[in-house]
Amino acid sequence: MEKMDTSFIPDLPTGGPLEVYRKRANFDWKRLRLILEKEQGLRIKYKVWRRLESDPLFAHPSRTPPMDQQKRLAAMQVNRMKQLQLVPKEIESLSFSAKTKYLMEINQALASYSPSLSVKIALSVGLFNNAIRAMGTEKHKKYIEATWNREVITCLAVTELSHGSNTKRIRTTATYDPRMQEFVINTPDFEAAKCWVGNMGKTATIAMTFANLITADGENHGLHGFLIPIRDPKTLISYPGVLVGDIGEKSGLNGIDNGFVVFTNYRIPLDNHLNRTGNVTPEGVYESVFTDPSQALGAALESFSAGRVGIMQEAANTLCSAAVIAVRYAAVRKQFGPERQGEEMPIIEYQLHQYRIFPILAAACVQKIAVEELSNTYLAIIAGSQDDSNGFDVLVSVVRQ
Ligand SMILES: Cc1cc2nc3c(=O)[nH]c(=O)nc-3n(C[C@H](O)[C@H](O)[C@H](O)COP(=O)(O)OP(=O)(O)OC[C@H]3O[C@@H](n4cnc5c(N)ncnc54)[C@H](O)[C@@H]3O)c2cc1C
Repeated sequence: MEKMDTSFIPDLPTGGPLEVYRKRANFDWKRLRLILEKEQGLRIKYKVWRRLESDPLFAHPSRTPPMDQQKRLAAMQVNRMKQLQLVPKEIESLSFSAKTKYLMEINQALASYSPSLSVKIALSVGLFNNAIRAMGTEKHKKYIEATWNREVITCLAVTELSHGSNTKRIRTTATYDPRMQEFVINTPDFEAAKCWVGNMGKTATIAMTFANLITADGENHGLHGFLIPIRDPKTLISYPGVLVGDIGEKSGLNGIDNGFVVFTNYRIPLDNHLNRTGNVTPEGVYESVFTDPSQALGAALESFSAGRVGIMQEAANTLCSAAVIAVRYAAVRKQFGPERQGEEMPIIEYQLHQYRIFPILAAACVQKIAVEELSNTYLAIIAGSQDDSNGFDVLVSVVRQ
């Protein structure tokens, strides 16, 4: 049997009502846990959980706070992240895929504590910085440090009121004005308002926004990414030409200020165009290695895939937690028994109840393993596209395929 170090996994509490079943187990649960979670990942998660446990700011409130307070708390927790030093400096020297994997483990640990917190961090740091690396050039790298220092609060504005899944039909425009060397951002009508954007409702100071790049000759070169300052970082008051607000209460994730924005003749400098896959010269000439605008869009959106993989990981973990809660509850909840006045039986003993919860438990294990495999495949594929030495060539060939 393969040797595994399970010594860092804390023991389960003893003496509780679950002990009778735990004693009957004919397998080592710690080994099973390492099969499902992998040692390195689990070590990272325990480190994160211990740091959160030691800080009162992360104590779970005993009742659900009002919506605004949830948002405030999530924002304060994000600000505390740097102090908690969850991300060791050494990971900067790791390969792109190893670094992303490390950050994904941290994200999963945070998501199991508070989904709002993990999403807020992803939008403010992880996904934004990935997108800068994938779509931006040297001049945009300064934003990466600024996000870690909280000098800028960022969001990713893709979705519009009328277009979510069908990204290609987004209608926000960025029209180049060669006279001023600026882009003029416009929302053609309310249906094209950016919507659902996390962090945008109350806090974001910069929106990485997808808009149709139009040159002075009227030609539309398809969707590109732009860094659009939307609020003064000192006052959080929005700039003239930017109508921004919060979309209100949601059925979950209320720590996130999801918002909308409408732009009216709002000007940004040429340098705020993320120009790795398509560039506009100061004179207004558009140049790109892609002949088809949808390929340029594919290259740009590649960086968001990490977020989608992260959502799958969080979904798999949530299903695992739900299955564990249901199984444990069934083991301690007693109803009826063989004798009218005798001892009652835990409901886990009833076939009908087993039929309800065991397939879900099995599905949770399968999903956990499948998502791990998919995450590794994803990291292997994109590792090349972010490699400094040949990144651009690989990105181009991945998208062309
Ligand atoms: C909590 C939350 C946070 C979000 N954060 C952000 C953010 O930070 N930035 C951002 O830009 N966006 C964000 N979004 C928006 C999100 O990206 C969109 O909701 C998503 O892309 C789906 O778009 P939609 O809601 O318009 O759904 P639609 O595109 O209207 O799709 C609705 C449903 O229609 C069906 N459907 C649609 N097309 C097809 C098809 N071709 N075949 C079969 N069925 C189909 C599917 O069942 C689909 O689920 C967020 C959304 C949520 C809920």
